[in-house]
Amino acid sequence: MALTETPVVAGSWINGEAVKTGGQPFAVISPATGEVVSTYALATPADVDAAVAAARAAQPGWAKAAPVERAGVLAKLAELMEANAATFIAEEVAQCGKPVRLATEFDIPGSVDNVAFFAGAARHLEGKASAEYSADHTSSIRREAVGVVATITPWNYPLQMAVWKVIPALAAGCAVVIKPAEITPLTTLTLARIAAEAGLPAGVLNVVTGSGADVGTALAGHRDVDVVTFTGSTAVGRKVMTAAAAHGHRTQLELGGKAPFVVFDDADLDAAIQGAVAGALINTGQDCTAATRAIVARDLYDDFVAGVAEVMGKIVVGDPHDPDTDLGPLITTAHRDKVAGMVSRAPAQGGRVVTGGVIPDLPGSFYRPTLIADVAEDSEIYRDEIFGPVLTVRAFTDDDDALRQANDTDYGLAASAWTRDVYRAQRASREIDAGCVWINDHIPIISEMPHGGVGASGFGKDMSDYSFEEYLTIKHVMSDITGVAEKGWHRTIFTKR
Ligand code: NAD
Repeated sequence: MALTETPVVAGSWINGEAVKTGGQPFAVISPATGEVVSTYALATPADVDAAVAAARAAQPGWAKAAPVERAGVLAKLAELMEANAATFIAEEVAQCGKPVRLATEFDIPGSVDNVAFFAGAARHLEGKASAEYSADHTSSIRREAVGVVATITPWNYPLQMAVWKVIPALAAGCAVVIKPAEITPLTTLTLARIAAEAGLPAGVLNVVTGSGADVGTALAGHRDVDVVTFTGSTAVGRKVMTAAAAHGHRTQLELGGKAPFVVFDDADLDAAIQGAVAGALINTGQDCTAATRAIVARDLYDDFVAGVAEVMGKIVVGDPHDPDTDLGPLITTAHRDKVAGMVSRAPAQGGRVVTGGVIPDLPGSFYRPTLIADVAEDSEIYRDEIFGPVLTVRAFTDDDDALRQANDTDYGLAASAWTRDVYRAQRASREIDAGCVWINDHIPIISEMPHGGVGASGFGKDMSDYSFEEYLTIKHVMSDITGVAEKGWHRTIFTKR
């Protein structure tokens, strides 16, 4: 359908209502069919100003609400999200081409659980005990909402990434302005609408939708926000940090990844093969924690490559609405062509395409699961983030070599080690530089535990109580307990005359 044939709908949510902002119409395209899903009006930098002003005005009242009130709104939101699961699933499948099984069993329940977790966590923020650390004073700690949070999210898990950023901020008493990726705004807008139904006061959550260069830059560099949080690529994350630094604003960055998947010679080979395929293909490989670099003991290497190739060969690629489909399309044809380009250049750099490397004859931006063995350590496919259904494999000689290869990357988001030896597992979990190390698994996440990387993968945490550190300030309150006018320490400053 041509752009002009779809009605232009509101693309932003500001101060408690859907707003048809003043920017150009923008079409959300289904990556599975190339058809227009919806056309909305882009926001402009002036709309960003309006959203930040709404958040600024609403935040003090929201911060003053008792934790139990904020918890009540979040609990209601979780309930309404569950009731509206079908809408979220349909939107996620339409705008991302996400297989309906993944949206139904992972994206939506994971998001609901995250909101439910923070409804509880909002009620027990912990701090250091109030005590006398000086003979003349009682000290206590106040943890206060940092204020207005600007957040910018990517297209790969639009609802989950929005929830990970927005919900801990709301639980902490902050107000939020979020800019989702312009190509996948639908579930973030639905989240804001449902949050209002759940009782979230107007202005506490605002959505502005537009391009990174335009709306993203205006939001990241806005003078009147207090914290900028970001999930996306490392290159853009650094731009966001620079923009926020102009005002001295705090940032939290969840960036790219290039996760190693280390298979020691005592591993359960079948488990490692199954885990590698699941870890590499989740969300068509468009997952920052996806297994991308299999590093395999020489003795298991050939069997691992053959086993992964066999399972990958049976993966069903196609219509994301079909519950039998395993692998949906990549997000755009431009991204699919980028992935295909990297794979096509791999053989010249020593890589052996064992399976895949094929664009199937389908209307959307599909790509077959791909396994590339024998990749060179300095090859593009081994070093750069691919963000597609592509797993590379290298052999290692001994444990030192395995861990050296695992850490031979600028990224440090996630990793896994496959072994039945408890000492190897302990060593791998200690020595691999990453925000998460799985042992004999790869991908599972839980709301109670933090997610976030090191190095080029960013800093700060999403999910869990740890994420509150991003949204709270620590204030020391020190109260005199002597009632004495002339305090002993005054003589250090002036002599009584
Ligand atoms: P991206 O960096 O291109 O875009 C992310 C967001 O930033 C989008 O909303 C985009 O519009 C916006 N943006 C672009 N340029 C901007 C600018 N100059 N100023 C402000 N905002 C700007 O990333 P993407 O392609 O949407 O997502 C894929 C990337 O996200 C991958 O690198 C992936 O690893 C990463 N990611 C990381 C995590 C994590 O938790 N670490 C999770 C999901 C995705």
